[in-house]
Amino acid sequence: MGRGIPDPSPLGVLWHDGHTHSASETIARFHAQVKQHMDGLKARRRGVGVPTCPKAEENGAACRVTRKGLVWRPGGVKLGHGEASEPIAVQHCRCLRHGHFLDYPSFLVPRKHYAAEVVESALSARAQGRTLEEICSVQGLPDTSAVRRWVRDVMVRIPVLLVDVRKRSIKWLAGVRDALHEATTLTPPSFYRVWSLLQGQQRASPDLLRRFPTVSHLALSV
Ligand SMILES: [Zn+2]
Repeated sequence: MGRGIPDPSPLGVLWHDGHTHSASETIARFHAQVKQHMDGLKARRRGVGVPTCPKAEENGAACRVTRKGLVWRPGGVKLGHGEASEPIAVQHCRCLRHGHFLDYPSFLVPRKHYAAEVVESALSARAQGRTLEEICSVQGLPDTSAVRRWVRDVMVRIPVLLVDVRKRSIKWLAGVRDALHEATTLTPPSFYRVWSLLQGQQRASPDLLRRFPTVSHLALSV
């Protein structure tokens, strides 16, 4: 099993770059990413580098985005093993057509307290059939509740993703729609199957890879 799914390593392999990084390298890289993100927010100027609406269609023509305030996370972003970032902020935006959204940096998955890399590694390991206890030990999580929740969140989002795809009829999501339809008709739904389908679709599309750096982003952002 696990065909097409990368083998998770301690603290994960970020952005599928094919290299295993040591925990200290990963932590240093993570803190650098957070600093870059916060520096970017401080340096932002009116009308320059306005984030893309997550519901933008392929050409994005219908979206007009303005930046609103910042949403702070006083507890920072957790990295497992008791590590966390400094307090961070996320840009709150508004699209005239689609409403409000948060512009998440690539190291953060929507509505998750842990770094995207931890969520992605844990879900990928789960799809490979690793036990919850094993995943918690590798990722440095205090108990199994977070991983259970993440798996459930992906499964719960499938119908939402399907509805969104139908509404938008976007070319690049046509494959996802078919794959997800197949996934929802499985009884009981297999997380491995769902994860593999999403991963396959994400990797097959440069546009998906650009907009959703991990499968978790793809599943949880829409
Ligand atoms: Zn929009």
